[in-house]
Amino acid sequence: MKVFIAVDMEGATGVVHHDQLMPDGRGYAAAQRMLTADVKAVIHGVLEEAPQADIVVGEGHAIMRNVILDEIPPEARVVVGPARPDNKSLCQLEGLDASFDVLFLVGYHAMAGRELGLLAHTFVGSVVSTFRLNGSPVGEVEVNAAIAGAMGVPLGLVVGNSDVADEMGCAPDAVFVATKSVLGPTAAICLVPQRTSVLLHEAATEAIRRTRSGALKPHVSRSPLSMSVTMHRREQAARAMTVPGVVRTDELTIEVSGQDAATVFRVVWKALCAALNEPPTWLQ
Ligand SMILES: [Zn+2]
Repeated sequence: MKVFIAVDMEGATGVVHHDQLMPDGRGYAAAQRMLTADVKAVIHGVLEEAPQADIVVGEGHAIMRNVILDEIPPEARVVVGPARPDNKSLCQLEGLDASFDVLFLVGYHAMAGRELGLLAHTFVGSVVSTFRLNGSPVGEVEVNAAIAGAMGVPLGLVVGNSDVADEMGCAPDAVFVATKSVLGPTAAICLVPQRTSVLLHEAATEAIRRTRSGALKPHVSRSPLSMSVTMHRREQAARAMTVPGVVRTDELTIEVSGQDAATVFRVVWKALCAALNEPPTWLQ
């Protein structure tokens, strides 16, 4: 049993605010511990059902050095380091391939544009206004489900904020666990780590059972497919156009088409990183 656990932070236990999301924030160290405890609980849940499991954890939030490695069980390996396209062209899923049996997403949040969504965004909050897959708005859960689906890997477990439940249509047979009930963009009624660690352990065990039973189906998008991104500023779209394979469909929107979601996403990710590349403040 090979399990890939992609880890974001906005949907981790106890995380509700920007001051918990970056190393210079006051709440970061505590949030890092809660995120690590979530990952640990999921790994223990996997090992209960599949003691020989090969487990890879993929860091997927911002600097991608958030999980505290010396607290992670020795059965797992961790993909660490920022998602520059020359490092990690698949961003949160770098390291995933067709040899894996199932994908888990832990610490996830609602898509950009979700009304009153908790810390809602899609990949890069400062750039992405709307991310679309074949014309429909999607968040990180569905994009990642589609990339894994292109490799024949199903999504088996999603752990995150309660408003992510609305994005589970792409994986109807996956297990979903909410770490908190969303009140608004920066507040939620949170379950505490002692509670979520039990829920996440049980959910991971159940997700491995479903993987074994064949109940999970990979999320395969129709082919050819397109991903488009409407950006906040036209300068960002102009910079994204420097990446080969990117087409501009209006002032703020770029589009990439291709045969499968993984190939298309690699180009989109490169375009998003190019869009981010601002000139220094003194030149703006
Ligand atoms: Zn995210």
